[in-house]
Amino acid sequence: MYRRDTSFEEVVMDKTSQKALSLLREIKSVTFSTSNDGKPSARIIDVMFVEDDGLYFLTARGKSFYRQLKANPSIAVCGMNEQYVSVRLVGDVMFCEDRSVVDKSFDLNPIMNELYPGEKRYILEGIHLYRGKGEVFDLSTEPPARERFSFGGATVNPCGYRITDECTACGICKEACPVNVITEGDVYRIDQAHCLECGSCLEVCPVDAIEPAEGL
Ligand code: SF4
Ligand code: SF4
Repeated sequence: MYRRDTSFEEVVMDKTSQKALSLLREIKSVTFSTSNDGKPSARIIDVMFVEDDGLYFLTARGKSFYRQLKANPSIAVCGMNEQYVSVRLVGDVMFCEDRSVVDKSFDLNPIMNELYPGEKRYILEGIHLYRGKGEVFDLSTEPPARERFSFGGATVNPCGYRITDECTACGICKEACPVNVITEGDVYRIDQAHCLECGSCLEVCPVDAIEPAEGL
């Protein structure tokens, strides 16, 4: 019987976070990246299941992935589905000593029994991504759409480039934008949820009135 870990802060997950984690589960095999002595290290890992307190995956205690997470329990996850909707997130993980996470993972992903039959499954440990922030980027819409999200107490920066009050309304940036998401006004405005974050507007603005998007 799977038991949830309640030893951490109660998670409130908004709809975008739920959508993002569900999408990663649907894609299932996604990139998990860690830091290995300051160098990036990535591999494909299956998302075992998602609940309203985060995302769960497994790895074996013998793997370098396991040791890297023990040394630095933070992770970056990235995946894209066939409709060109991608999710990226960075977050923090905790190890689940309770074997019930392994058992639940095998129940929901029975192919795992072929790799780790019987009791051999317990070389694996469950890992819970309990706090994170990220972005859903939908390239299937025109213009593409971004939604940022956070859960488990993380905070995320807004997406998209911004125009400041220094704008003189010359209109040059609007001409440069490849997806036409800049609107006229006394101060021009960027629809940040649809900004490609390409930087074309910033490069042409004569008065440096455009600020780049912040990272997550
Ligand atoms: Fe405003 Fe700069 Fe755009 Fe001109 S190019 S409209 S000054 S933001
Ligand atoms: Fe348009 Fe690119 Fe500027 Fe975004 S960063 S408003 S997509 S030109």
